[in-house]
Amino acid sequence: MKKLLLLSTALFFAIAAFAQEPKGVFYSISFPNAVHHEAEIVMTIPQSPAKEFKVRMSRSSAGRYATHEFGKNIYNVKATDVSGVTIPLKQVEGDVYEIDTDHPETVVISYTLFGNWVDGTYTGIDASHAHLNMPATFMWSPDLVKRSVKIEFNDLDKYGWKVATQLKHEGANIYSAPDLQYMMDSPTELSNFKETSWNVVNADGKTEKINLTVHSVDDQPVIDGFGKMIQKIVLEEKAVFGELPAYDYGEYTFVSDISTTDSGDGMEHRNSTCITLPVEKVQSYETRLLGVFAHEYFHSWNVKRIRPKSLEPFNFEHANMSSELWFAEGFTQYYGEMLLVRSGFRSIDEYTHTLSGLVNSVLNTPAAAKYSAAQMSRYSVFADAGVSIDPNNNSNVFTSYYYYGGATALALDLRLRSEFNLTLDDYMRTVWLNRGKVMKPYTIPDLQSDLAKLTKNPKFAADFFAKYINGIEKNNYTDLLAKAGLILQKEKPGKAWAGSLASSGVRGRSGQALTPEADGLAILYSTVIGTPLYKAGLDAGDVILKADGKSIKDVAAFNDVVNSKNVGDKIVINYKNSSGEHETTVTLEEDPRLEIITYEKAGKTLTKDQEDFRKNWLSSKVQ
Ligand SMILES: [Zn+2]
Repeated sequence: MKKLLLLSTALFFAIAAFAQEPKGVFYSISFPNAVHHEAEIVMTIPQSPAKEFKVRMSRSSAGRYATHEFGKNIYNVKATDVSGVTIPLKQVEGDVYEIDTDHPETVVISYTLFGNWVDGTYTGIDASHAHLNMPATFMWSPDLVKRSVKIEFNDLDKYGWKVATQLKHEGANIYSAPDLQYMMDSPTELSNFKETSWNVVNADGKTEKINLTVHSVDDQPVIDGFGKMIQKIVLEEKAVFGELPAYDYGEYTFVSDISTTDSGDGMEHRNSTCITLPVEKVQSYETRLLGVFAHEYFHSWNVKRIRPKSLEPFNFEHANMSSELWFAEGFTQYYGEMLLVRSGFRSIDEYTHTLSGLVNSVLNTPAAAKYSAAQMSRYSVFADAGVSIDPNNNSNVFTSYYYYGGATALALDLRLRSEFNLTLDDYMRTVWLNRGKVMKPYTIPDLQSDLAKLTKNPKFAADFFAKYINGIEKNNYTDLLAKAGLILQKEKPGKAWAGSLASSGVRGRSGQALTPEADGLAILYSTVIGTPLYKAGLDAGDVILKADGKSIKDVAAFNDVVNSKNVGDKIVINYKNSSGEHETTVTLEEDPRLEIITYEKAGKTLTKDQEDFRKNWLSSKVQ
């Protein structure tokens, strides 16, 4: 519980007091117009650089890998001296402003911020809360990134809000960060959230306090119960690494917001995570929500401390590109899901669906056939909630590093277990001790060298990285899964298939859906290389009028035609596009999608070895 003593001091006095402090940057944020999603922000720079200098909004956000334009949401930007007298301020780029050489020692910048999007990147303000991601909220000066930061959150009593954040509480409504990087990594939720906390005794005997704050319509007992579930996951993750990280100020906070108007997201930070999920409340959705919490908490080791060099430090003017997200995100994806089984929240049959998704993404997508996991990681600068209005060809050139990397983690885990009598937990612990705990940012060769040391087999490590990380070869999932008594097989053997008309797209571009046109079925996304539809020359922009002589108005009607046929049958398609009406022939193939099922489900008996293998892999590791 945090008890807040609210400052009623006028802003002027706060600024005046802060101006005495050397070499800091002071922000004050208030919400006089929260119902219209606005905040008023004042940034005070004492002892400002004795030259012309710039202040700006960010173009990227901690943990989000694509570039964003936060500058579009600020206006009424003004510079004054401490007494409020306007000084010249020149807008030199859309989101960059310049203060000329002739300025007072203390410069005060003020602006209005609009924010109406609740996720792990943007800012959402209304009368119920101010959900603040810092790069989307605060201007900063490239000349002052090393300075300490203080933020005053105002209007808390007016709205009945409390403060959930990893920022250091300085007393009253003032919070601080040692520098700009830390401040930008510290999202803050101001709301009347509910909270539950517990202590975990760490391997060194010190206590780490874990807080769960939830802004939702749930009652306190629901949050307490949900906290108990997350507690189990925290311990299961601790068992993987052997210890919790030593959190700054001894605390880690799950800052979560649950509302149907949220955008579904989870964003990791050094001592916190920002989780926003679009459901009506926590109650009765608990087990559905847990996966995001498990994933984001795993990041407090893997990516926030086991840190790729490519992301260190964050560039807030242009998103960092990283070749390591197959590990930072993909291995985290694997553990986030697998640990739900170890902690008892998923059955083995539920887990086989997750595994099927991983294996299909690596064995059954055109991009994974052509591009390496490292290369797909670099595409994140366009794919991670990337926003643009023209279509992309992602269904053919991008396989998510979450699933590609997750499938690679699965293969490595099963190979370490079956070939070395080691586990992926051993590997994660090695990387933690060599890189994360000592905060030495890594490169891909560092990860390979850690695998070589763990296995005492440099040849295996070199081979694994050359083939499956930097290359496009695939592990033998059929044989590896069989060790745990799991069968990899065609999901619909012998079923005719033309390819999928609705591509899943990527996060942030989900607004589009297949809409029937008046006289046919419009293809809205690129068709996928290798599918019968693609081979027949059909693509986005075509409108299917008839299939096999039948009028087609929607996807269901098209699927009915395909389902009535056999593998090898030909379907004549009549379609139109900007060059007129056309006819083509689709030759149906066998549906290539794979599924994983247990031996038990297939009516086969597990051997003792398979039973032991599965148990060692998926049973709880909490002592
Ligand atoms: Zn992640």
